[in-house]
Parts: sequence; C-alpha cells; structure tokens
Amino acid sequence: MSDLEIKNVISPACDDAEYVREVAEAKRALELWTMEPGFQEAFFAAPEETLASYGLSIDALSVKVLCDHDTAVEYQKTPFEELPRVVRRYRGFLKEKVSERERMTKEYCVPKHPSFRAWRGRQLNRCWAELGSRNNSIIHVPITFELDLGCSVGCPFCGVMAPKLSKVSRYDEDAALWKGVLSFTKEIIGDAAGQATCYYATEPLDNPDYEKFTDDFFKIFGIIPQLTSAASMRKPERTRAYLERALKTYRRVHRFSVLSLDILHKIFEAFTPEELICVELLPQFTEAPHNMFANAGRARKNDGLHVEEGDGNTIACISGFVVNMAERSVRLITPCGASEAHPTGEMILAKEHFEGLDDFKRLFVSLIDRYMQAEFPKDQPLRLRPGISFEKTEKGIEFYRSEKFRLKFFGADDLSPTLYHDVLDKLQSGGKTAYDIAGELMEEIDAFPANVFFVLKKFELAGLFLEPYETEK
Ligand code: SF4
Repeated sequence: MSDLEIKNVISPACDDAEYVREVAEAKRALELWTMEPGFQEAFFAAPEETLASYGLSIDALSVKVLCDHDTAVEYQKTPFEELPRVVRRYRGFLKEKVSERERMTKEYCVPKHPSFRAWRGRQLNRCWAELGSRNNSIIHVPITFELDLGCSVGCPFCGVMAPKLSKVSRYDEDAALWKGVLSFTKEIIGDAAGQATCYYATEPLDNPDYEKFTDDFFKIFGIIPQLTSAASMRKPERTRAYLERALKTYRRVHRFSVLSLDILHKIFEAFTPEELICVELLPQFTEAPHNMFANAGRARKNDGLHVEEGDGNTIACISGFVVNMAERSVRLITPCGASEAHPTGEMILAKEHFEGLDDFKRLFVSLIDRYMQAEFPKDQPLRLRPGISFEKTEKGIEFYRSEKFRLKFFGADDLSPTLYHDVLDKLQSGGKTAYDIAGELMEEIDAFPANVFFVLKKFELAGLFLEPYETEK
C-alpha cells in the first residue's frame, strides 16, 4: 500500500491495525486537547513525554498540526501529500464521517412519502435562513423513537429539557406494538425510517431492554440505530457488550456525552483508543477547555455555563415524528433557533396520544395529512416568513435572517432578474395567491404566468412561505 493511501476506518472496518492505531491515537490526542485540563500546557512543555505518558506513540508534530491553531494555520497551504502521515489519515477519517452525514441528510433521511418528502425539504431549507451554518450538522431525520418518558440523568444544560424519568417501555409488554410501529413507519416513510435513533429526550441506557428493542430495529431495517449515551460509565460492562455487538453487526458512529472529568478518565481507562474509533466523545462539562453547550433548553437559564445567545441554537435534528413508546404519544417537530417561544430549539407542531397499533396508524396518517402538503395550492394566499430580510440585487434577490447566511435567487436564461423583484413586491403587499400574482403581473408587465409560478415555486421550496397550518393561528 502507498503511504499516501487513505482508507475507510468506520465502514467498512479497516483491517490495517497500524493504520487504525494511528487514527485512533490522533483522535484520543484531540480528546485530551479539548477535554483534559492542563494537557495543552504539558504538551507544549514536553510534547513526546506528554504523549507517552498517555500511552500515545504518534508523532508530536501531527498532534500540533491537528490540535494547535497556530500550527494548523502554518500548515494550511501545505500540499496534502506533504503533510505528516497521521494528519493525512486523521483528515481522511474526518472526511469519511462528514460525507456519511451528508449522505444521511441528502439521501438516507429522505422519506418516500411525497407530501412528507416535500414538507421535510421545506423545513430543511427554512433552517438555512434561520440557523445558518448550524444547519450543516442537522440531518432532519424524519422519525425517531423514545423508549422512556423522561430521563434519569438530569443534565443542567439539557437542550431538550427532558423531564425526570417517570416511565419506561418494557419489551415483554410492548414487543408486538413496537414491531408493528416500526413496520408501519417503514411502510409509510420507507427506508428513511431506519435512520431513526431509539432516544431523543431520553437516555437510551435508562431502558433495561434497549438491546432487545434495537435487535428488532435491526431485523426490520437492517440498521443498528445510533446511540448517544450520557450514562456510558454507569455499567461499563453493558456499554462494552452493546458496542461490541452493535459494531460487529453494523458499523457506524456512536457517541458518549462526557459529563465530568471523572467520567472522561473512566472512559479512557475502560476503552483503548482503537476501541473508541467509532465513538465520538462530546465534552459537556465546564472544566473542559473546549466544552460544547448549545444555548437551548435548560442551558438558556443556566448562567454557570456561559453559553452565548445567537443564531442556530438548537440540538434538534428531526423534521418529522417523535414516537414515545412509554407514553404512547407522537410529536411532530422541526428545528428552529431557541427562543422564549421555542425554548428547546424545536417547533412542536402537534402532540397526540395513541392506544394501540391501529390507533397509532390512524394518528400517524392523519398528522401527515393535516400538516404536510406536497405543494402549496395556487389559490391559497402566500405569506412570507416573518423575520427574513431581503435585498433586491442586479441579478435577482437575496434573502437573509442574519448576515451569516444569504439565500440568493438569480434570473437565468429568459427569466429577468426584475421578475424576482416584481414577485416579491406582490408577496409583500400581502394576502395574494399564486393565481392573483400571476394574473396581476401578466396585466402589468406582460409576464408569462409560467415564469411567475416558477419563481414562486423556488421560494416555496426554499421554505420562505409560512406553512398553511402556521397561518391558521
Ligand atoms: S441531555 Fe440527554 S442525558 Fe442529559 S438530561 Fe437531556 S436527555 Fe437526559
């Protein structure tokens, strides 16, 4: 193998142990850099000795290029083939993860149901204007499952404000309903339902039957759902057994939330860097040099965390349904920036309860019918989403909510840039339908109705119009 070859490490598994070791050690060095207080100072004082004291044998220069801002800038223009080997391999590993996430958003999470697909597309595009680059990391999964009601961990920063754990779904009682729910959602949404997790505002390992539920999930979708656990060290032997089995069956990235330095040390003691190659560690304790808290949910009221107000504060990643098996409920949600009106960074459009499988099926279909339109009827008044600014340009029009992100529409071929301006003027005058706008512009400027509908369709797909259910209030 050429020294320059980049291999997949996650899926498929890489059989080159030395290659995996280098990537895993680079990952652990980054984890130490971001989470272990004092590591950076010790590294700068004695790089090789410090790495060796943590059992790492990768070269110090690679760690500097990957972790230290100034060194990273220094090496920014270095051709890829001239970078240290560990840096090349670690960047290949990151690329593998990012491209998998992009495929999830653009391909795997797209529902087969036409109205659901169109609605999810509009929500995803709305989030570009509302959340800016934060939207890059939101996959807009169409459905997810909760096996419990509430969460036992009680994080003071919980972005979804999970209440205390009050109920768990037990496999022995709920197996038939569970399998029925999974099969039905697969029938309606298609394979995209298999991108669900089996947690949301819950801790997956709170449920003693999590393994049994996810075994069924695998039988139906051929996928082991992604696990994010803040309780990974509660029973390390359970976590280890689950991970080993899950990764043997279906390799993907899982995550541990690290809630304290003590937990970080326990994780490092329990797992070698190679054993955690498929597990991201999320630094969620204040002593960590680079901790991560979104300003959503309980974090908004927690002054000790020093999280800043800004665009894109949400941890919600669902544009679709949350099915709670313990409570027998279904919520329809989609991400938004956390605010007084939406403290958890999600718009909760509906929440309803069901009793058994037939009732679930009825409810599920009725929520799709009620909230998800394949397209906006041309005789329905169109209203621009409030809070979005616009600028008429020589080429067409630009929409933006903050200066961070702009959505640009250009005139092309026989479509004049000024048509965008004219359509916008009509929309701003309020209450007009697509037919009204096309008729008026045909009379006033001789515009082809087909061109007007084309421009309106572009705005609709971009999520710039309020959904019908939002205008009813
Ligand atoms: S962040 Fe996760 S683990 Fe912590 S309270 Fe919320 S749901 Fe539970």
